[in-house]
Amino acid sequence: MKFSLFLCALLFFLIGVDAYSQTAKDFAEMWDHQHVSNLPPSNVRHADLQKYLDGLKKSGIEVKEVGRSFGNREIYQAEWGRGATKVFMWSQMHGDEPTATSALVDMLAFLQKNRGKSWVKELENAVTIRVVPMLNPDGAELYQRRNLQFIDINRDARALETPEGRLLKKLRDAWQPDVGFNLHNQNALTTVGNTKNQATISLLSVSGDPQGKSNEGHLRSKRLCAVMISALDNFIPRHIGRYDDTYNPRAFGDMISAWGTPVILIETGALDGRDEMFLVKLNFVAYLAALKSLVDKSEQKADASLYDQLPFNNSGNLYGVIFRNASIVNFSNTAAPFISDIAVNAERRRAAQPAPTFVQDIGDLSVYAGLDEYDAGDFYMTAKNGLIRVGSTGEFLFYKKTRKIDWSAKDLEKIFPPDAIFRNGKWTTGAGLLRKLN
Ligand SMILES: [Zn+2]
Repeated sequence: MKFSLFLCALLFFLIGVDAYSQTAKDFAEMWDHQHVSNLPPSNVRHADLQKYLDGLKKSGIEVKEVGRSFGNREIYQAEWGRGATKVFMWSQMHGDEPTATSALVDMLAFLQKNRGKSWVKELENAVTIRVVPMLNPDGAELYQRRNLQFIDINRDARALETPEGRLLKKLRDAWQPDVGFNLHNQNALTTVGNTKNQATISLLSVSGDPQGKSNEGHLRSKRLCAVMISALDNFIPRHIGRYDDTYNPRAFGDMISAWGTPVILIETGALDGRDEMFLVKLNFVAYLAALKSLVDKSEQKADASLYDQLPFNNSGNLYGVIFRNASIVNFSNTAAPFISDIAVNAERRRAAQPAPTFVQDIGDLSVYAGLDEYDAGDFYMTAKNGLIRVGSTGEFLFYKKTRKIDWSAKDLEKIFPPDAIFRNGKWTTGAGLLRKLN
Protein backbone atom coordinates (compact mmCIF):
# COMPACT_ATOMS: atom_id res chain seq x y z
CA MET A 1 0.00 0.00 0.00
CA LYS A 2 2.70 2.39 1.02
CA PHE A 3 4.72 1.46 -2.03
CA SER A 4 1.84 2.04 -4.44
CA LEU A 5 1.23 5.40 -2.82
CA PHE A 6 4.87 6.19 -3.38
CA LEU A 7 4.57 5.13 -7.03
CA CYS A 8 1.49 7.29 -7.44
CA ALA A 9 3.28 10.24 -5.93
CA LEU A 10 6.31 9.62 -8.15
CA LEU A 11 4.15 9.35 -11.27
CA PHE A 12 2.27 12.48 -10.34
CA PHE A 13 5.56 14.26 -9.75
CA LEU A 14 7.01 13.17 -13.09
CA ILE A 15 3.91 14.13 -15.06
CA GLY A 16 3.76 17.36 -13.14
CA VAL A 17 7.40 18.18 -13.89
CA ASP A 18 6.93 17.43 -17.56
CA ALA A 19 3.83 19.57 -17.89
CA TYR A 20 5.19 22.28 -15.68
CA SER A 21 8.36 22.40 -17.73
CA GLN A 22 6.46 23.95 -20.58
CA THR A 23 5.86 27.35 -19.04
CA ALA A 24 7.95 30.35 -20.00
CA LYS A 25 9.25 30.65 -16.45
CA ASP A 26 10.45 27.10 -16.55
CA PHE A 27 12.12 27.60 -19.91
CA ALA A 28 14.03 30.43 -18.23
CA GLU A 29 14.95 28.24 -15.30
CA MET A 30 16.11 25.49 -17.64
CA TRP A 31 18.28 27.98 -19.44
CA ASP A 32 19.76 29.05 -16.09
CA HIS A 33 20.81 25.47 -15.36
CA GLN A 34 21.56 24.12 -18.81
CA HIS A 35 22.86 26.84 -21.12
CA VAL A 36 26.11 25.95 -22.86
CA SER A 37 27.08 29.38 -24.21
CA ASN A 38 29.65 30.66 -21.76
CA LEU A 39 30.82 33.99 -23.21
CA PRO A 40 28.99 37.29 -23.51
CA PRO A 41 27.62 37.07 -27.08
CA SER A 42 29.50 40.19 -28.16
CA ASN A 43 32.78 38.41 -27.35
CA VAL A 44 31.91 35.32 -29.42
CA ARG A 45 34.10 35.12 -32.50
CA HIS A 46 34.03 32.60 -35.32
CA ALA A 47 36.45 30.29 -33.49
CA ASP A 48 34.23 30.38 -30.39
CA LEU A 49 31.20 29.51 -32.48
CA GLN A 50 33.14 26.57 -33.91
CA LYS A 51 33.75 25.34 -30.35
CA TYR A 52 30.06 25.64 -29.54
CA LEU A 53 29.19 23.75 -32.73
CA ASP A 54 31.74 21.01 -31.96
CA GLY A 55 29.90 20.52 -28.66
CA LEU A 56 26.59 20.24 -30.51
CA LYS A 57 28.09 17.74 -32.95
CA LYS A 58 29.39 15.62 -30.08
CA SER A 59 25.90 15.54 -28.63
CA GLY A 60 24.64 14.08 -31.92
CA ILE A 61 23.32 17.15 -33.73
CA GLU A 62 24.04 17.33 -37.44
CA VAL A 63 26.19 20.38 -38.16
CA LYS A 64 27.69 20.99 -41.58
CA GLU A 65 29.48 23.69 -43.47
CA VAL A 66 27.07 25.07 -46.05
CA GLY A 67 29.16 27.87 -47.50
CA ARG A 68 31.92 30.44 -47.06
CA SER A 69 31.90 34.13 -46.33
CA PHE A 70 33.59 36.70 -48.60
CA GLY A 71 36.62 36.36 -46.28
CA ASN A 72 36.49 32.57 -46.73
CA ARG A 73 35.21 31.78 -43.22
CA GLU A 74 33.00 28.72 -42.85
CA ILE A 75 29.26 29.23 -42.50
CA TYR A 76 27.43 26.39 -40.82
CA GLN A 77 23.95 24.96 -40.66
CA ALA A 78 22.74 22.77 -37.80
CA GLU A 79 19.66 20.57 -38.05
CA TRP A 80 17.45 19.12 -35.33
CA GLY A 81 14.18 17.21 -35.46
CA ARG A 82 12.51 15.10 -38.15
CA GLY A 83 9.02 16.53 -38.37
CA ALA A 84 7.00 17.94 -41.24
CA THR A 85 6.93 21.58 -40.13
CA LYS A 86 10.11 23.25 -41.36
CA VAL A 87 11.52 26.06 -39.21
CA PHE A 88 14.49 28.06 -40.51
CA MET A 89 16.39 30.33 -38.11
CA TRP A 90 19.42 32.50 -38.98
CA SER A 91 21.38 34.94 -36.87
CA GLN A 92 24.05 37.62 -37.01
CA MET A 93 23.58 38.67 -40.60
CA HIS A 94 24.86 41.90 -39.08
CA GLY A 95 28.22 41.14 -37.50
CA ASP A 96 27.75 43.32 -34.42
CA GLU A 97 24.33 41.82 -33.57
CA PRO A 98 25.32 38.68 -31.69
CA THR A 99 22.69 37.78 -29.04
CA ALA A 100 20.74 35.23 -31.08
CA THR A 101 23.81 33.23 -32.12
CA SER A 102 24.38 32.20 -28.50
CA ALA A 103 20.66 31.69 -27.89
CA LEU A 104 20.39 29.35 -30.90
CA VAL A 105 23.31 27.29 -29.66
CA ASP A 106 21.69 27.05 -26.23
CA MET A 107 18.36 26.10 -27.82
CA LEU A 108 19.85 23.28 -29.88
CA ALA A 109 21.91 21.95 -26.95
CA PHE A 110 18.84 22.03 -24.74
CA LEU A 111 16.56 20.26 -27.23
CA GLN A 112 19.11 17.54 -27.90
CA LYS A 113 19.80 16.95 -24.22
CA ASN A 114 16.13 16.78 -23.27
CA ARG A 115 14.85 14.46 -25.99
CA GLY A 116 13.67 12.12 -23.25
CA LYS A 117 11.04 14.64 -22.16
CA SER A 118 7.71 13.93 -23.77
CA TRP A 119 7.11 17.43 -25.09
CA VAL A 120 10.60 17.58 -26.62
CA LYS A 121 10.04 14.18 -28.21
CA GLU A 122 6.79 15.47 -29.63
CA LEU A 123 8.60 18.51 -30.94
CA GLU A 124 11.29 16.35 -32.49
CA ASN A 125 8.64 14.39 -34.37
CA ALA A 126 6.67 17.45 -35.42
CA VAL A 127 9.29 19.94 -36.61
CA THR A 128 12.60 20.07 -38.39
CA ILE A 129 14.68 23.06 -37.38
CA ARG A 130 17.55 24.34 -39.48
CA VAL A 131 19.76 26.94 -37.87
CA VAL A 132 22.40 29.13 -39.51
CA PRO A 133 24.18 30.85 -36.65
CA MET A 134 26.45 33.78 -37.54
CA LEU A 135 25.64 34.22 -41.23
CA ASN A 136 28.22 37.05 -41.35
CA PRO A 137 31.34 35.62 -39.66
CA ASP A 138 33.65 38.28 -41.16
CA GLY A 139 31.49 41.06 -39.73
CA ALA A 140 31.36 39.20 -36.41
CA GLU A 141 35.15 38.98 -36.33
CA LEU A 142 35.49 42.74 -36.88
CA TYR A 143 32.39 43.46 -34.79
CA GLN A 144 30.91 45.48 -37.63
CA ARG A 145 27.45 45.45 -39.19
CA ARG A 146 28.54 44.84 -42.78
CA ASN A 147 30.39 41.97 -44.42
CA LEU A 148 33.95 42.14 -45.74
CA GLN A 149 32.77 43.83 -48.95
CA PHE A 150 31.29 46.49 -46.64
CA ILE A 151 27.88 45.62 -48.02
CA ASP A 152 24.89 45.41 -45.67
CA ILE A 153 23.77 41.82 -46.30
CA ASN A 154 20.26 42.79 -45.28
CA ARG A 155 20.04 45.15 -48.26
CA ASP A 156 21.30 42.49 -50.65
CA ALA A 157 18.25 40.25 -50.99
CA ARG A 158 17.57 41.48 -54.53
CA ALA A 159 21.03 42.13 -55.98
CA LEU A 160 22.72 39.16 -54.25
CA GLU A 161 26.19 40.67 -54.51
CA THR A 162 27.37 39.04 -51.25
CA PRO A 163 28.23 35.34 -50.89
CA GLU A 164 26.40 35.38 -47.54
CA GLY A 165 23.21 36.74 -49.11
CA ARG A 166 23.39 34.25 -51.98
CA LEU A 167 23.84 31.42 -49.47
CA LEU A 168 20.84 32.48 -47.40
CA LYS A 169 18.64 32.59 -50.48
CA LYS A 170 19.97 29.24 -51.70
CA LEU A 171 19.27 27.55 -48.36
CA ARG A 172 15.76 29.01 -48.28
CA ASP A 173 14.92 28.16 -51.87
CA ALA A 174 16.23 24.60 -51.66
CA TRP A 175 14.29 23.79 -48.48
CA GLN A 176 11.16 26.00 -48.71
CA PRO A 177 10.69 26.34 -44.92
CA ASP A 178 7.25 26.98 -43.43
CA VAL A 179 8.43 29.71 -41.08
CA GLY A 180 11.60 31.78 -40.80
CA PHE A 181 13.23 33.57 -37.86
CA ASN A 182 15.43 36.51 -38.82
CA LEU A 183 17.43 37.35 -35.71
CA HIS A 184 19.00 40.75 -35.06
CA ASN A 185 19.93 43.31 -32.40
CA GLN A 186 18.61 46.86 -32.29
CA ASN A 187 19.94 50.01 -30.68
CA ALA A 188 19.91 49.78 -26.87
CA LEU A 189 18.16 53.16 -26.69
CA THR A 190 15.17 52.11 -28.81
CA THR A 191 12.01 52.69 -26.79
CA VAL A 192 8.52 51.18 -26.72
CA GLY A 193 6.08 53.59 -28.34
CA ASN A 194 6.02 57.02 -26.78
CA THR A 195 7.47 55.84 -23.47
CA LYS A 196 10.95 55.99 -22.04
CA ASN A 197 11.05 52.19 -21.63
CA GLN A 198 13.81 50.42 -23.52
CA ALA A 199 12.52 48.03 -26.17
CA THR A 200 14.34 44.96 -24.89
CA ILE A 201 12.77 42.76 -27.53
CA SER A 202 10.96 43.97 -30.63
CA LEU A 203 9.01 41.74 -32.95
CA LEU A 204 7.84 41.99 -36.51
CA SER A 205 5.65 39.61 -38.41
CA VAL A 206 6.78 40.37 -41.95
CA SER A 207 4.02 40.40 -44.55
CA GLY A 208 6.32 40.39 -47.60
CA ASP A 209 3.71 42.29 -49.57
CA PRO A 210 4.46 45.87 -50.69
CA GLN A 211 1.00 46.93 -49.49
CA GLY A 212 1.29 44.93 -46.27
CA LYS A 213 -1.45 42.48 -47.26
CA SER A 214 -1.79 39.36 -45.11
CA ASN A 215 -1.89 35.75 -46.12
CA GLU A 216 -2.32 32.68 -43.89
CA GLY A 217 1.43 32.43 -43.27
CA HIS A 218 1.59 36.06 -42.19
CA LEU A 219 -1.33 35.56 -39.83
CA ARG A 220 0.35 32.52 -38.33
CA SER A 221 3.56 34.43 -37.69
CA LYS A 222 1.46 37.12 -35.99
CA ARG A 223 0.05 34.44 -33.71
CA LEU A 224 3.55 33.09 -33.08
CA CYS A 225 4.57 36.63 -32.13
CA ALA A 226 1.61 36.72 -29.73
CA VAL A 227 2.85 33.48 -28.15
CA MET A 228 6.32 34.99 -27.69
CA ILE A 229 4.87 38.22 -26.27
CA SER A 230 2.92 36.21 -23.65
CA ALA A 231 6.09 34.32 -22.75
CA LEU A 232 8.31 37.40 -22.57
CA ASP A 233 5.74 39.37 -20.60
CA ASN A 234 6.76 37.27 -17.59
CA PHE A 235 10.21 38.86 -17.63
CA ILE A 236 10.05 42.19 -19.47
CA PRO A 237 6.54 43.67 -19.23
CA ARG A 238 6.37 47.11 -20.92
CA HIS A 239 9.69 46.42 -22.66
CA ILE A 240 8.39 44.68 -25.79
CA GLY A 241 8.02 46.71 -28.97
CA ARG A 242 6.88 46.26 -32.51
CA TYR A 243 9.45 46.80 -35.22
CA ASP A 244 8.81 49.20 -38.08
CA ASP A 245 6.96 47.30 -40.82
CA THR A 246 7.83 49.50 -43.79
CA TYR A 247 8.31 47.25 -46.81
CA ASN A 248 11.89 47.12 -48.05
CA PRO A 249 12.43 45.26 -51.33
CA ARG A 250 16.16 44.89 -50.61
CA ALA A 251 15.76 43.33 -47.14
CA PHE A 252 15.78 39.59 -46.58
CA GLY A 253 12.85 39.59 -44.15
CA ASP A 254 10.54 41.04 -46.78
CA MET A 255 11.94 39.02 -49.67
CA ILE A 256 12.01 35.66 -47.90
CA SER A 257 8.38 36.28 -46.90
CA ALA A 258 7.58 37.19 -50.51
CA TRP A 259 9.34 34.03 -51.73
CA GLY A 260 6.99 31.96 -49.58
CA THR A 261 8.51 31.59 -46.10
CA PRO A 262 6.75 33.93 -43.66
CA VAL A 263 9.44 35.61 -41.59
CA ILE A 264 9.40 36.71 -37.99
CA LEU A 265 11.97 39.33 -37.15
CA ILE A 266 13.24 39.39 -33.57
CA GLU A 267 15.29 42.42 -32.64
CA THR A 268 17.03 42.27 -29.28
CA GLY A 269 17.73 45.61 -27.62
CA ALA A 270 18.89 45.99 -24.03
CA LEU A 271 17.60 46.36 -20.51
CA ASP A 272 19.39 48.72 -18.17
CA GLY A 273 21.04 46.82 -15.35
CA ARG A 274 20.81 43.43 -17.09
CA ASP A 275 23.70 41.86 -18.96
CA GLU A 276 23.93 40.24 -22.38
CA MET A 277 23.32 36.76 -20.99
CA PHE A 278 19.90 37.85 -19.75
CA LEU A 279 19.10 38.80 -23.34
CA VAL A 280 20.25 35.36 -24.50
CA LYS A 281 17.87 33.82 -22.00
CA LEU A 282 14.96 35.93 -23.28
CA ASN A 283 15.66 34.79 -26.83
CA PHE A 284 15.87 31.16 -25.70
CA VAL A 285 12.52 31.46 -23.93
CA ALA A 286 10.91 33.11 -26.96
CA TYR A 287 12.15 30.45 -29.40
CA LEU A 288 11.04 27.55 -27.22
CA ALA A 289 7.66 29.11 -26.55
CA ALA A 290 7.12 29.59 -30.29
CA LEU A 291 8.28 26.06 -31.18
CA LYS A 292 6.21 24.43 -28.47
CA SER A 293 3.11 26.32 -29.63
CA LEU A 294 3.55 24.88 -33.13
CA VAL A 295 3.38 21.39 -31.66
CA ASP A 296 0.70 21.65 -28.97
CA LYS A 297 -1.34 23.77 -31.43
CA SER A 298 -1.66 26.62 -28.91
CA GLU A 299 -0.38 28.82 -31.74
CA GLN A 300 -3.70 28.29 -33.53
CA LYS A 301 -5.57 29.72 -30.56
CA ALA A 302 -3.15 32.56 -29.83
CA ASP A 303 -4.61 36.04 -29.93
CA ALA A 304 -2.94 37.94 -32.79
CA SER A 305 -4.26 41.21 -31.38
CA LEU A 306 -1.58 40.94 -28.67
CA TYR A 307 0.84 41.54 -31.51
CA ASP A 308 -1.28 44.09 -33.36
CA GLN A 309 -1.62 46.18 -30.19
CA LEU A 310 2.08 46.24 -29.45
CA PRO A 311 3.37 49.83 -29.57
CA PHE A 312 5.81 50.53 -32.38
CA ASN A 313 9.48 51.12 -31.68
CA ASN A 314 10.54 54.68 -31.15
CA SER A 315 13.91 56.39 -31.06
CA GLY A 316 15.11 59.71 -29.73
CA ASN A 317 13.28 59.64 -26.37
CA LEU A 318 16.12 58.10 -24.47
CA TYR A 319 19.83 58.79 -24.12
CA GLY A 320 22.63 56.84 -22.49
CA VAL A 321 23.62 59.54 -19.98
CA ILE A 322 22.19 62.99 -19.30
CA PHE A 323 24.03 65.53 -17.14
CA ARG A 324 21.49 68.06 -15.88
CA ASN A 325 21.99 71.76 -15.16
CA ALA A 326 25.73 71.76 -15.66
CA SER A 327 27.61 75.06 -15.83
CA ILE A 328 29.40 74.49 -19.10
CA VAL A 329 32.73 76.12 -19.69
CA ASN A 330 34.09 75.99 -23.22
CA PHE A 331 37.48 77.35 -22.26
CA SER A 332 38.85 76.88 -25.77
CA ASN A 333 36.66 79.79 -26.84
CA THR A 334 35.00 82.28 -24.44
CA ALA A 335 35.07 80.37 -21.14
CA ALA A 336 31.89 82.22 -20.05
CA PRO A 337 29.86 79.55 -18.19
CA PHE A 338 26.29 78.83 -19.26
CA ILE A 339 23.80 76.41 -17.78
CA SER A 340 22.63 73.46 -19.85
CA ASP A 341 21.86 69.75 -19.98
CA ILE A 342 24.15 67.45 -21.96
CA ALA A 343 23.16 64.09 -23.48
CA VAL A 344 25.74 61.45 -24.29
CA ASN A 345 25.44 58.07 -26.03
CA ALA A 346 27.90 55.18 -26.18
CA GLU A 347 28.74 53.36 -29.40
CA ARG A 348 28.18 49.62 -29.71
CA ARG A 349 31.25 47.63 -28.73
CA ARG A 350 32.11 44.14 -27.53
CA ALA A 351 31.53 43.66 -23.81
CA ALA A 352 35.28 43.51 -23.24
CA GLN A 353 36.02 46.83 -24.95
CA PRO A 354 35.43 50.37 -23.71
CA ALA A 355 32.64 52.01 -25.69
CA PRO A 356 33.47 55.55 -26.82
CA THR A 357 30.78 58.09 -26.04
CA PHE A 358 29.67 61.07 -28.08
CA VAL A 359 27.71 64.19 -27.24
CA GLN A 360 24.24 63.91 -28.79
CA ASP A 361 22.53 67.08 -27.65
CA ILE A 362 23.03 70.24 -25.61
CA GLY A 363 20.31 72.52 -24.19
CA ASP A 364 16.98 72.03 -22.43
CA LEU A 365 16.71 68.24 -22.42
CA SER A 366 13.97 68.10 -19.78
CA VAL A 367 11.65 66.20 -22.15
CA TYR A 368 14.14 63.35 -22.54
CA ALA A 369 15.33 60.62 -20.21
CA GLY A 370 18.75 59.11 -19.74
CA LEU A 371 19.46 55.56 -18.63
CA ASP A 372 21.74 57.35 -16.18
CA GLU A 373 21.08 60.92 -15.15
CA TYR A 374 23.30 63.07 -12.98
CA ASP A 375 22.66 66.38 -11.27
CA ALA A 376 25.59 68.55 -12.38
CA GLY A 377 24.10 71.70 -10.82
CA ASP A 378 26.99 72.22 -8.40
CA PHE A 379 29.66 71.76 -11.04
CA TYR A 380 31.48 73.39 -13.87
CA MET A 381 31.64 70.93 -16.71
CA THR A 382 34.15 71.07 -19.52
CA ALA A 383 35.71 68.74 -22.06
CA LYS A 384 39.33 67.71 -22.11
CA ASN A 385 39.93 69.85 -25.19
CA GLY A 386 37.87 72.74 -23.82
CA LEU A 387 34.90 72.47 -26.17
CA ILE A 388 31.67 70.56 -25.66
CA ARG A 389 29.83 70.40 -28.96
CA VAL A 390 27.41 67.95 -30.57
CA GLY A 391 29.45 65.08 -31.98
CA SER A 392 32.48 65.58 -29.75
CA THR A 393 33.79 62.64 -27.74
CA GLY A 394 32.43 62.49 -24.25
CA GLU A 395 35.45 62.90 -21.96
CA PHE A 396 34.34 65.40 -19.38
CA LEU A 397 35.98 67.18 -16.47
CA PHE A 398 33.89 68.37 -13.51
CA TYR A 399 34.94 71.08 -11.04
CA LYS A 400 33.02 72.08 -7.94
CA LYS A 401 31.62 75.56 -8.49
CA THR A 402 33.04 76.62 -5.12
CA ARG A 403 36.54 76.34 -6.60
CA LYS A 404 38.29 79.15 -8.38
CA ILE A 405 39.66 77.87 -11.66
CA ASP A 406 41.85 79.75 -14.11
CA TRP A 407 40.46 78.32 -17.34
CA SER A 408 43.33 79.78 -19.32
CA ALA A 409 45.87 77.81 -17.30
CA LYS A 410 48.23 75.76 -19.41
CA ASP A 411 48.02 72.11 -18.44
CA LEU A 412 44.67 72.76 -16.71
CA GLU A 413 44.23 69.22 -15.38
CA LYS A 414 47.62 69.25 -13.71
CA ILE A 415 47.32 72.65 -12.06
CA PHE A 416 43.62 72.25 -11.28
CA PRO A 417 42.89 68.53 -10.86
CA PRO A 418 39.21 67.92 -11.66
CA ASP A 419 36.92 66.68 -8.88
CA ALA A 420 35.41 64.15 -11.24
CA ILE A 421 36.24 62.78 -14.69
CA PHE A 422 33.76 60.92 -16.91
CA ARG A 423 35.37 58.93 -19.69
CA ASN A 424 34.03 56.22 -22.05
CA GLY A 425 30.79 56.09 -20.10
CA LYS A 426 32.46 55.63 -16.71
CA TRP A 427 33.62 57.75 -13.80
CA THR A 428 37.38 57.37 -13.75
CA THR A 429 37.71 59.95 -10.95
CA GLY A 430 35.16 61.10 -8.37
CA ALA A 431 32.63 58.28 -8.77
CA GLY A 432 29.54 59.04 -6.71
CA LEU A 433 30.33 62.75 -6.41
CA LEU A 434 27.55 63.89 -8.73
CA ARG A 435 24.14 62.96 -7.38
CA LYS A 436 22.39 60.31 -9.43
CA LEU A 437 18.86 61.34 -10.41
CA ASN A 438 17.52 57.91 -11.30
ZN1 LIG B 1 20.40 43.86 -37.90
